[in-house]
This record gives sequence, structure tokens and C-alpha cells, in this order.
Amino acid sequence: MTDTRGASERSLKARAAGLGEAAASQLRPDTGETASENQNQTANAPPVPGRLVITASWLNDPAAQAVLKALTSGGFRAYVVGGAVRNALLGEPVDEIDIATDAPPERVIALAEQAGLKAVPTGLAHGTVTIVSSGRGFEVTTFRRDVESFGRRARVSFDAALEDDATRRDFTMNALYADATGQVFDPVGGLPDLFARRVRFVGDPDRRIKEDYLRILRFFRFFARYGAPEAPPDSKAMAAIARNAEGIERVSAERIGHEIRRLLAAPHPERAIAAMADAGVLERVLPGADPSALAFLLALEPEPGGWLRRLAALGGDDPATRLRLSRAEARRLAELAQAQQDNLSPAEAGYRLGLERGTDAVLVAAARSGKPLPEGWQEAVSRGAQASFPLKAADLLPFFEGPALGRALATAERYWIARDFVPSKAELLRHLGVFGKS
Ligand code: ATP
Ligand code: MG
Repeated sequence: MTDTRGASERSLKARAAGLGEAAASQLRPDTGETASENQNQTANAPPVPGRLVITASWLNDPAAQAVLKALTSGGFRAYVVGGAVRNALLGEPVDEIDIATDAPPERVIALAEQAGLKAVPTGLAHGTVTIVSSGRGFEVTTFRRDVESFGRRARVSFDAALEDDATRRDFTMNALYADATGQVFDPVGGLPDLFARRVRFVGDPDRRIKEDYLRILRFFRFFARYGAPEAPPDSKAMAAIARNAEGIERVSAERIGHEIRRLLAAPHPERAIAAMADAGVLERVLPGADPSALAFLLALEPEPGGWLRRLAALGGDDPATRLRLSRAEARRLAELAQAQQDNLSPAEAGYRLGLERGTDAVLVAAARSGKPLPEGWQEAVSRGAQASFPLKAADLLPFFEGPALGRALATAERYWIARDFVPSKAELLRHLGVFGKS
């Protein structure tokens, strides 16, 4: 395994040049020694030339370092893993830091407490303890420890433990590790995939999907977020997903909803949604959804929109239940559907719904109807959003009363909207025949 890893690290240096400046600057230069010369590297040692060492915000983050140190000072290994390593390598922001360790959960708790940190057993069944450091939570998960049964020497069994942990992860780009010094470990060849922005399952896709059907949706989410824009999704993954698509029905609506939200929030979710349709997943998750309306929305969006507007464009049968939307989210979705039904003009959408929701309504209606957006629609929405109807019920008393009062106000409001919010109070009163009837 060490050889394979050495090879992948050497090829990674070659590929770093193709990474773009932001990401390439994450790599510290090395002296060109081969990885195998540094086999005995351990997590606590200073960086050794010949290894890939990244710079990442968490390397200088005392809160993260305190957690890693609490574990390593107890004689255990501790690695940042998953998104924090992946995103540091891509030069993208890191939001949470997950840690993998060979310390068993009860030792994790004891070591955290010894270091004066709070430990919360948030997922003991999966070996996860959350350590709170400077008010932030770090999820610390123990490697699977079935390695001892191989009876190998300590260093090899350490490699095996790291490999074991890596082979349990979903995608190769998510199975990258870095120690407290930023030194990267890549037990399953995730680096070349990451640099090529290829989302690939670790191991046999069929098996990995059958272990956890949520991975189908994670595949599309990561493809949407990290996939190369010009490359299709991995064909082995797609074939396995198509074969296992019905398994998605075992995943709870809540988890499906969580993944779909995150997928739709990616800058360009349309290819992932089209791939979901191709693999027979979309019709199971959201029957009746229309990927082409989403693609049209993406082409129309002046700025990337939120997931809810994209979901509204996608449509589909009962998203509120299927994706377990909150009541407020379901209400907003219904409001967007209603605006389309009412055929609101951009100005009226702005006036009735405000700038943000009005913009959403106009874009969704255009995407779903396939009609082009009217010239100047953004200005119209914002004019509508700023307009304030000059007439109040009190202005119409005593000329109108009861239901007639409501009707008169509505008539005046329609007149005012149709004239682009220009008519003054006096003109509206005249229009209603209240004053100026000479
Ligand atoms: P994000 O930026 O979306 O949080 P992430 O990679 O941190 O990306 P998480 O969902 O937070 O994703 O999971 C952390 C890591 O745990 C992943 O990188 C992956 O290695 C592993 N993981 C999470 N969920 C699964 C799963 N269902 N199957 C296998 N591995 C998983
Ligand atoms: Mg994460």
C-alpha cells in the first residue's frame, strides 16, 4: 500500500500544476525526495520533504489544534478528514472540521477532559464524540479497529487502520486525511480524482450503495458541487445507481430533503439533476419534476439563487411531504406556484412579494412556462417592491362602507399597479369617483 500511496503522491505533484493558482498555492514545495524515503513518518513529526503538505486555515486555528493535540498527546493518531481536507486542497472555504482517530471513544472523552475541553458523546454508536473547543464543535470519530486481527506489525497495522477507515468512506475525494502539520494521507487514491474533479465511490459502487442508499444522493450532491463542469458523472457509479435506484425509497424524507436542498444550493445543480433523471432516481425522489425547467431557470438567473427557488422551478408532486419541508418553506413554495398561476407582472410581483420573493416568482414563472423574461423586469420588480399604495381605507370613508369599501380599495390598487404605481392619492380618489366629479 505504501508504494501505491507513494505513486499517487508523486503523480499528485505533477497534477498540482493543473490545479489552478488558488489550489496550487495550497501545496508547499518539497525537495523531490520520494515518499518511500519517509515511510516512518508519524502524525506528530514535523513535515518531511517529499510528502504533500497543505496549508489550510485550520492549521493555524488554535481551537482545531487543541483538539488534535489532546488526542496525539495521549499517544494516538488524529487526522482532519473529509471536507476540511478536500476543500483546503481545492482552495475552497472549510466550514466544519471532522477528525478521525485511532483512540477509542472513551479515550477520546477522557483525553478531551484532561485537556480541559468538553466532550459530548453525540454518536457513540458510530464511534463519534463531539469535542467542544473555543465554543466550536469538532466531530471526532474512531477508526474501525478490526485491524488487530491481521496480527501485523504496529506501523503496518496503523496503515491498515487508516485504510480501513478510508474504505468505509463514500467517495475517494472524501477519504483524504491531514495531520496537525498539514501532511496529507491518501489511502485510496483520492487526490488524482480530486484534482480531476471526479466523484468516484471508494470500492465497488454496487456494494457501497447497498450498504447505505443515502450515498446515491450524496453522489449527485458532490457531483453538483465538485464535479468537473465538462465531464459526465462517473459511468460505473451511474450504472450502479441505476441498478439500485429503488433503494432510495428506504431513505427517510428528512434525509432526502437535506441532500436535495444542499444539491440545489450548488452553483450549478442542473447537470446533477439531469443525471438523477437519467439514472431513474429523480422520479423516485420527486415524481413529476421537470429538469428542463430547472436548466432554464439556471440560464435565466442573473445571480445564483437559493435552493427553494430552484426547487420551485423543478416542480414535482408534493415536494413539501417528500422533502419534509418546514411549514414556512412549504408556504413560500406555494406562494411561488400561486404567483405563476396569477400570472403576476414583474412590477406586481415586486409590490406583492417584495424584492427577493418577487424576483423568485418572476424567474420561476418564466422557467416553468418557457417564456422569455420581459425587458426591464428587474427594474420593474424593484419599483414594485419600493412602491407604497397611497390610499387608506380612512380616505374612502364615508363614501364607501363595508364590503364596498374593500372593493373600492382593490379597484384603486389595480388601477395604480397597472399604471406603474404613478397615480397619486388625488387621482385614485378621482378614479373612484369620490372627488373631482364636477
Ligand atoms: P460538506 O462540506 O458537505 O460537509 P463533507 O465531506 O464534510 O462535506 P459530511 O457529510 O460532513 O461531508 O461527512 C464527512 C465525511 O464523512 C465525508 O467526507 C465522508 O468521508 C464521510 N461520510 C459522510 N457520510 C457518509 C456516508 N453516508 N457514507 C460514507 N461516508 C460518509
Ligand atoms: Mg462536513
